[in-house]
Amino acid sequence: MTTDDKASGATAEAGRDFIRDIVKADLDAGRVKEVVTRFPPEPNGYLHIGHAKSICLNFCIAQEFGGHCNLRFDDTNPAKEEQEYMDAIERDVRWLGFDWGKHLYHASDYFERLYGWAEDLIRAGRAYVDDQSQDEIRSNRGTLTEPGKNSPFRERGVEENLDLFRRMRAGEFPNGARVLRAKIDMASGNINLRDPVLYRILHAPHPRTGTTWKIYPSYDFAHGQSDAIEGITHSVCTLEFEDHRPLYDWFIANLNVPSKPRQYEFARLNLTYTVLSKRVLTTLVRDGYVTGWDDPRMPTIAGLRRRGVPAEAIRDFIKRIGVVKANSLVDVGMFEFSVREALNKTALRRMAVLKPLKVTIENYPEGQSEELDAVNHPDDPAAGARKIKFGRELYIEQDDFMENPPKKFFRLSPGSEVRLRYAYFVTCRDVVKNAKGEVTELRCAYDPATKGGNAPDGRKVKATMHWVSAADSIAAEVRLYNPLFSKLGPTGGEGFTADLNPNSLEVLTGARLEPALADAKPEVPVQFERNGYFCVDPASAPGKPAFNRTIGLRDTFAKDVAKDAAKDQALP
Ligand code: ATP
Ligand code: MG
Repeated sequence: MTTDDKASGATAEAGRDFIRDIVKADLDAGRVKEVVTRFPPEPNGYLHIGHAKSICLNFCIAQEFGGHCNLRFDDTNPAKEEQEYMDAIERDVRWLGFDWGKHLYHASDYFERLYGWAEDLIRAGRAYVDDQSQDEIRSNRGTLTEPGKNSPFRERGVEENLDLFRRMRAGEFPNGARVLRAKIDMASGNINLRDPVLYRILHAPHPRTGTTWKIYPSYDFAHGQSDAIEGITHSVCTLEFEDHRPLYDWFIANLNVPSKPRQYEFARLNLTYTVLSKRVLTTLVRDGYVTGWDDPRMPTIAGLRRRGVPAEAIRDFIKRIGVVKANSLVDVGMFEFSVREALNKTALRRMAVLKPLKVTIENYPEGQSEELDAVNHPDDPAAGARKIKFGRELYIEQDDFMENPPKKFFRLSPGSEVRLRYAYFVTCRDVVKNAKGEVTELRCAYDPATKGGNAPDGRKVKATMHWVSAADSIAAEVRLYNPLFSKLGPTGGEGFTADLNPNSLEVLTGARLEPALADAKPEVPVQFERNGYFCVDPASAPGKPAFNRTIGLRDTFAKDVAKDAAKDQALP
């Protein structure tokens, strides 16, 4: 929650979704005194917008019902985990507007206790050391229709099991030589209960525990018990863990844990044109399909931030989509709606020409210029105004001129008159071309009586165009982003790179911006009038800013796709 939300007094919103209903009922019935939730990322990648759903849910529920939410790193697999990811995760959760206070934990803090519980299970005859290879374990696990086969090591005595497990811990055996398994039921209809692996041998240093441990607990063995240690009341996770719940409950029932947490599942976020799998995102970064985890095309929190998406827009989107129990695919257009809503309110208006075409105002005196008033935000007088310079040489957008316009084209064409925003009416008198026949310059005339944009004789124009002064504008690079995947529902499966959009990035090197944009700050998007919302990139070279397009003014991508499809069909 932001401080604003806190100040306004967040209210418990029971009735909003089934999880909040459960929490409310538990509090009302006195089953729970203080609500404690947790967000449990595995530090093996950066957070993405799917994680934001889980973060908002866990932190907001704690906030709304007067409890607290822990940030717990699920750091049980040192082979894939890195400090860089932990730092990025903390930064991103904070940036999203949430605060775990003193409640920062690591599953690795509990390794000793988890180990003790594993010995307890052995002593109770509920766990055994299995010498089968990984392949044997897999092939003896059975299938959805066939029961599994008991391991030949399943009936080992307690003393032998304890001895072997302690020697596993001491590092006597190589990786994969043995595992510790729970002794539950190899014929269970739920495969997760067919003697799941609790510990595996892994001779790998851990970012926090160093070389202390040669064995590491499985996710299933670590997760519920970590919840119990932290006094989590509602352990909220995504649907794929529904089938793990009986195992979660089995551990809680069979171990002497300090509290009895319960797990609840909700549908993970899936977005059109987007893959939210860390495995795929890691591949994109590692194989150079993007420039890094914070590439503005990535669905990561870091990428969205660099692109200019405000945290408020992400929170608003998550609130709009709600929390349900059935998986679905959310239209990325809904997310973009939230981004436009947030930016429309806050982004200052500026003028920038992305693909410049030179305009010379022939009847404007050479060497002269004047300052005009331009408002910073049409709906917010408090945002004030700025001065912009008008002179004899200007740039307009190439697309705003057509030599042979179709009927409904109201912008500039030979002989036509348009309004230049905040300035004057201008008429195109002449078109200058280069040897290749390309238009390189327009020779225009302005009407001095139309200063400010209205004609005293009441005559009307049908177009108002943005522009910048040639002498005062600054040069910039502008990066236009399109969806990273061109397929509506990319699965991220084998060969997923074929679904990548070859046009996800378009770089414009010759853009011209009004001088006020020299002061633009990263993470503070502005609206380039008629062009969209843009944000200066934090890695811009000094004196040569690069701007990222956060988002266009309207949803054109879906329309373009439809148009392309229609065009393809129309081809002979
Ligand atoms: P991946 O499946 O891509 O590897 P993960 O779920 O393993 O991601 P974790 O770091 O374990 O990544 O996720 C932390 C929490 O975020 C988990 O509770 C998980 O359920 C939740 N989460 C991950 N992806 C989504 C999503 N798309 N929508 C909602 N919650 C998600
Ligand atoms: Mg996970």
